[in-house]
Amino acid sequence: MGDPAAHAKLSASGAVRWMGCPASVRMEELYPRSSSAYAEEGTAAHSLAETCLREYKDADYYIGQDFEQHIVDLEMAEYAQEYVNYVRALDGFLDIERRVDFSKWVPGGFGTADAILLKDGTIDVVDLKYGKGVQVDSDNNPQGMLYGLGAYHEFSHIYEIEQLRLTIVQPRMDHISEWEISTEDLLAFGEEASKAAELALTDDPPFNPGPKQCLFCGAKAVCPARAEYNLELAVEGFETVTNHGPLKKIAGLTNDEIAHILHNVDSFRNWANSIEAYAQDLLERGEIVEGFKLVRGRSIRKWRDEVAAAKSLVNKLNKKGAYTEKLISPTQAEKLLGKNSAILQKHCYKPEGKPTIAVEGDKRPAIVDDATEGFEVSEELENEAA
Ligand code: SF4
Repeated sequence: MGDPAAHAKLSASGAVRWMGCPASVRMEELYPRSSSAYAEEGTAAHSLAETCLREYKDADYYIGQDFEQHIVDLEMAEYAQEYVNYVRALDGFLDIERRVDFSKWVPGGFGTADAILLKDGTIDVVDLKYGKGVQVDSDNNPQGMLYGLGAYHEFSHIYEIEQLRLTIVQPRMDHISEWEISTEDLLAFGEEASKAAELALTDDPPFNPGPKQCLFCGAKAVCPARAEYNLELAVEGFETVTNHGPLKKIAGLTNDEIAHILHNVDSFRNWANSIEAYAQDLLERGEIVEGFKLVRGRSIRKWRDEVAAAKSLVNKLNKKGAYTEKLISPTQAEKLLGKNSAILQKHCYKPEGKPTIAVEGDKRPAIVDDATEGFEVSEELENEAA
């Protein structure tokens, strides 16, 4: 086993990363992550939700109050309330913000489960995710399973636990994901986690880049294994380039090659974005990145003093000319009136979204008819033009 200090790095929240890529534990020691404004907002929302459950109050009671240096507004209150309602509807003895110990499987492994509901049969482990960037599912979710293992370890001598239900409530993405796992399968996962942890703590852990494990890795911008992975991915399967040589064949990329790029475009984009952000950080710290410099971005003009500007404009143009009136958006109205407002229900509708590309397995149905319609119109227009 390697450095004992690394043990603390085998967190439940980082399990997708360290179970996926054993070398990430050592790499993250070299490139630790700093806390983001989003993470701090999430901490505030968790603290609010916890307080609601402890004090038997709804989240709107706390609007205007300070939680972890964030003032609770209507938006945060409504989102936190969705999680609170979900937890309140479950059966069992509620344990909130429970520290769970899974060190039996993962050295030094512990975490804090947002809510655990204990009873014979099925115990629930519920996790609030306040992020809205990446949808998280509970199916085979290592974080939830490690919390589940900790809960099982601690409570299996009190309750007859047959299975665990892991739930992720992600209110800002309108997403609730529930998944059940038998204790037998959970314990088998524990063995897997144990092996992964052992590998991660060796002196020479292997790299294993991939979209999931790299996404939140502290080393994602500078990791050579991730760079190699993306560069290889970019050329793999490219007949046009590899078989015929670049610029020798008078032909565009094949549809298969376009599909290959599309399948991997998120990986390329995330990789490129993390490198760009890292390079900007280097330049801001005064380091040299050959061929690059910091410049001022585009900005828009602003009134130096709004009151003074308004006075002059009204004098010159009168009030009607100086001001515009704009109806608030449905989202702004919802914030003011609440989700179930009769005004919203009567006057609000959701137009069909513009056609957008998605992978075949996407839950939304394909818009075959619209595409055909569009094709017919184009043909008509073409005929007309001819
Ligand atoms: S960036 Fe990816 S491959 Fe590199 S250490 Fe992190 S998880 Fe592993």
